[in-house]
Formats: sequence, C-alpha cells, structure tokens
Amino acid sequence: MNIVVQCCGVALMVILLYFYSRGIKLGLYTERAFQRLMNVTMLALLLDILSNYFIVNRGITVPELATEVVCKAYLISLITLPLCGLSYICADIYEDRKKFMKMAKIHFVIYMISVITIIFTEIKYHYVADIKELYTYGPSVMCTYAFAGFLILDTIVLMVLHRDSLNPIRRRAMFVWMAIWLGSAVIQFFNNQLLVVGMGAVLGCTVVYLLLENPDSNRDRNTGLFNQNALLQYFKQLYNQGDSFSVMTILLEVSEYMEDGKITDSSARFDLLTYIAGLKDANAFTNAEDEVVLVFAKQEDFHVLRENIEKRFKHGWGKNRVFIKPYFINIPDSKVASNTDNLLYYMKYVRYYIKKHNDCGVMYVDEALTNKVHHELAIEKTLAIALEKDKVDVFYQPIYSIKEKRFNSAEALVRLYDENGNIVMPGDFIPIAEKNGMILRLGETVFRKVCEFISSDEFLGLNIDYIEVNLSVEQCSYEFLARDYIDIMRQYGVEPKRINLEITESAVLSAKGTLLANLEALQKEGVTFSLDDFGTGQSNLNYIVDMPVDVVKFDRGMTQAYFESEKAKYVMNAAMGMIQGMGLMIVSEGVETKEQYELLEELNIDLIQGYYFSKPIPKDEFVTFIMENH
Ligand code: C2E
Ligand code: MG
Ligand code: MG
Repeated sequence: MNIVVQCCGVALMVILLYFYSRGIKLGLYTERAFQRLMNVTMLALLLDILSNYFIVNRGITVPELATEVVCKAYLISLITLPLCGLSYICADIYEDRKKFMKMAKIHFVIYMISVITIIFTEIKYHYVADIKELYTYGPSVMCTYAFAGFLILDTIVLMVLHRDSLNPIRRRAMFVWMAIWLGSAVIQFFNNQLLVVGMGAVLGCTVVYLLLENPDSNRDRNTGLFNQNALLQYFKQLYNQGDSFSVMTILLEVSEYMEDGKITDSSARFDLLTYIAGLKDANAFTNAEDEVVLVFAKQEDFHVLRENIEKRFKHGWGKNRVFIKPYFINIPDSKVASNTDNLLYYMKYVRYYIKKHNDCGVMYVDEALTNKVHHELAIEKTLAIALEKDKVDVFYQPIYSIKEKRFNSAEALVRLYDENGNIVMPGDFIPIAEKNGMILRLGETVFRKVCEFISSDEFLGLNIDYIEVNLSVEQCSYEFLARDYIDIMRQYGVEPKRINLEITESAVLSAKGTLLANLEALQKEGVTFSLDDFGTGQSNLNYIVDMPVDVVKFDRGMTQAYFESEKAKYVMNAAMGMIQGMGLMIVSEGVETKEQYELLEELNIDLIQGYYFSKPIPKDEFVTFIMENH
C-alpha cells in the first residue's frame, strides 16, 4: 500500500484551500463552483487514504460493512468530482440561467443513477501484503470508471461545442484540466495499482486555481480594488440572474484644482481608496479607464449611498485637499441592455457625454438613452456608408454683400444621402462624426469637393470671391490640418484666397496651441478665416483680437434677438462698433425676411446670409442662382 501520493495531494490541497480562502471574493457562480470542486477533491483524497487503511485492516480491526461503505463513498466522490467540474464549466458556458438549470437537472439524474448503481453492485478488494499491492475492482468500480469517463467526455464535448463563448485563456485552462483528469483515469484503469486519480484531481484544481481562480488575479495591484476582468464577470452574472443593479462611476481624473487634471497627490488617492474600500453594500472595481466603478446589487441602496458619497466628495481628499467630482450612472433595470457588451457600450456612451459636458449628475441607462444610442448608431452607419460610397454632398448658401450689391461669397454646408436617397442634415451627424473621429475624413471630403468646385470652369464665371468652409473643433486640434489642406488646394490648383475657413469659439477654447499653428500656416498661404456662431457662446471679443479672423458671423439667434429686444440691440451695436473698428467684416446669418434685411442694411452690416436670399442649395442650383442674380 502506498499512500504517499495521496498525502502529497492532501498537502497541496491544504495550501490551495488556505490561499483561496484568504482571497476576497465577489460571489460569482464560478467561485462557488470552484470552492465545491476543491472541497470534493479534498474529500476524495481523504476517503482514498481511509479506504486504503480499511482494506488493509478489513476483517481484523475494521468490519467488512464499514470497509464497503468507505470504499463506495470513495467511488461516489470520484464521480462527484467530474460533476463539479462540469458544473464549473457550465457556469461559464451558459449565460442563460434557465439553460444552466436544465443542464444541471439532466446531469444530476445521470449522477443519481450512477450513485445508486455503485451502491448496489459488488465491490471486490485485492490486497497482497507482501508486495504491498492494493486495489479494488468488480462491477462497482467498473461503473465508477464508466460514469466518471462519461461525465468527463461530456464536459469536453460541451467545451468544444461552446468554445466560441469561452475566452481563449479559459478554454485552454479547461482543456488542460480535463486532459489531466482523463489521463489519470485512463492510467488507473489500465494499471489499477497506480492510484493516481486523486492526484490527477489535485493537479486539475491547481491548474484551474493558477490560471483562472486565483482571487488575486481579480484584484488591481495599484488600487487593491477588483479589476476590469472581475467587473466583466460580475456584470455577466448579474445579467444572467436578470437582476436590476446600479452602477456608480467615479471619474478619478477630474479634479478642480489640478492643472493637468489628474490626481498627482498620492495621499489623495490613498484617502479616496480607503473611503471606497470601506463602503458597504457595494462592490468596488477599477476599470480600464482608471475609474472607480461601484456596483450595487440592490437598487434601493443607490440613492442613499449616492447622497452619502456626494456629501463626502464635497470635501477635498488628501493633504492638499484635492477635489474630485464623482458622476453616477444608474441602471435601474439591467434588461435595457441585452448583455454585458451592450451594457458596456451604453456606459461608454454615457461616459463620453459626461466628460464632454462635464456634467457630474446622475445619468440613467434607460430606454430613452438606449433609443438615442440606437439612433446614433444608425446615423453612424449612414455616415460610414456615405463616406465609402461617395454619398456626401456639399450645398452652397449664397452670401450677399450690401456694399457691393452682389453675392460675393457662399458657405459650403455638408449633406448626406441615406440608403433611401433622403437627405440627412449636418445637425444629425456632425456631433456623431466628431465623437467617433469620422469628422476628419468627412471634413476632408467636403474640402476636396469645395476645391473641385472652385477649380471648375463654371465657378470662374460666378464672380464669387471665396467659399466659406466650416471647421469643427476636432479638425482644429488635428496637427496636420494645415499641411493636408494646403496639399489639397495645390492638387486642385485652388488659390488659397478663394478659401475662408470658419472656426468657432469652442475650437479656440479647446485647441488653442494647435489651432494657432494651423491658422498661421494656412494664413501664410493666403487663406482667410471667419469666426462662426458669434453670439451663441461667451462671445468674448478677445478671441477676435487673438485669432487672425477677417470675418465675424453673427449667429441666427443673435440676429433674431436684435429684432425682438431692445437690450440685444445695444449689445449688438456695441459689438458691431468694436468688430468693425478692428477692420473686420460682419455677416448676419439667418436673415429670413425683407424687413430684417432692410434693418440690417440700415445698421451697416456688411454681409447677409439667410433664407431671404436662398437656402443652402446643391451646386448646380447655386450656379444657376448666381448667374441669374448677378
Ligand atoms: P453654421 O455654420 O452656423 O451654418 C449655418 C446654418 O444656418 C446652416 O444650417 C444653414 O442652413 C442655416 N441657415 C442659414 N440661413 C438660415 C435662415 O435664414 N433661417 C434658418 N432657420 N436657418 C438658416 P445647416 O446647413 O443645417 O448646418 C448646421 C451646422 O452644421 C452649421 O452651422 C455648421 O456648424 C455645421 N456644418 C455644416 N456643414 C459642415 C461642414 O462641412 N463641416 C463642419 N465641421 N460643420 C458643418
Ligand atoms: Mg458656418
Ligand atoms: Mg453659423
């Protein structure tokens, strides 16, 4: 009899159980299934050792019946092991809890049949003291091999069938685990003196522990909180259970008084993490964006905790009292998203929105939001197809010079055609293109089309001095904008003075350095600039002083307000005085009626753009319009 192998197995299991019990866990199905697996492995090893002892002393100090009970208990533990393995793997494979329960029921019936068969069939013992040979055999043992083998093969088949839903690391670890089990069962079957099944189970557990279930692999080393991997698994589980839950995300980067926007004070970080680690009723994670994500399994806890957290965040953190603004994403009903990936997408959307608007309130991932996201996705698709299939068009809106009494310029305004040929307006897709980065490609497409038009023969006869082209914030902060645009102008042989680029106050605010470099390079070539949408933001006249603009465009709202309010009249008069004093021209946008036009003419506005003259129209119509209205 040789129980050294089993004793080593017990020692290894004690170590594994010790380390596993020390790690902080999330309560995932897989964690529970793994704990069960380890317990059963330990039990099987102990029963193995005990059955050896009982067989040796059978009929001497130990009664026959007791030996049979212990040996059969050991055999039952051997088929319980693959059942635990199977349930661990099914917990991972089946996202749908109902399917999981169905599989569990089927396998439990098979398991019970095998238990009953083992109990009621004969077991025989082989023990030769001289050569220390000991093993069991007979129908009961054969049944154990058959059922255990069946369960292992069944598990392997399930894994192969669902290999796509398992991540590659998991898949590999599970295959190694099953191979060890199968290998040890086969060795013992053909050589029943080599009692390696128990050790095989221990090695299997060790592989799973090291590769998948080490609780430390779910922790982030920097913060000590659960990591992104754990967050994904946790979401997946909450989803499978169909639970509602709330998520609170704290953006660690936002701090009011730090110049680079990051917490540079490590004591603040420490303070914050200690506070978060002490929060009850919530699991705390850090995600790939370096945010703290708190997940409340109970919806009711959200509002109470939010109030408490908000109160605490009103004070600073650490020695330097660093201020951090938390924002909250609440998901009252997890069913708004069909799965974890979907949910993460919505959260990403919310995060983008919050960062952009610096709005640190509560955002809800609810039906209204998901509808909005789906609408945006549809637009995004239309935009991608339009760029791909040349369904981007540029309309032109004439601009009238009051002094020269002619249309001296025009604004280029982009339009898209969707798959049904309907026009999509820029208000619908420009913000989305800015968000997903397509704006650079879109902007370039528009610019090319404008250059193509300017270089065409039909443009020559129009006596149009320049075309205004809109630049969005993202384009202004693109460092190669000037280089690219100069290249394009050269390609089409367009004189740079034929181009006037429209920038906005927000571009100036967010991209100052890059923007200035771009503007200077383009200005050197002869390109001129307009400040668009004056009157919508802060309308800070400093921007006009700082930026090399030649034209200021009064927004439609500002033009309208002039006709409606006395105060607005004063503001506009004052602004006009200063702008024209600096030698710049003013365009009034959104002029719709004759009365408005006449008043603006009296006011000495230089240029007029609006439906009064023409809406933005396709290129050919624009050419006809200008020819007819010379
Ligand atoms: P914007 O640059 O301020 O352009 C003027 C907008 O006012 C245009 O809307 C134009 O159709 C509209 N408009 C002009 N006159 C009147 C009027 O009398 N009454 C009314 N109600 N509206 C008038 P559109 O074409 O829908 O463009 C909206 C915005 O989309 C533009 O505002 C601009 O910010 C952006 N945009 C358009 N084309 C481009 C482009 O090629 N690139 C970039 N980055 N943005 C663009
Ligand atoms: Mg414009
Ligand atoms: Mg404008």
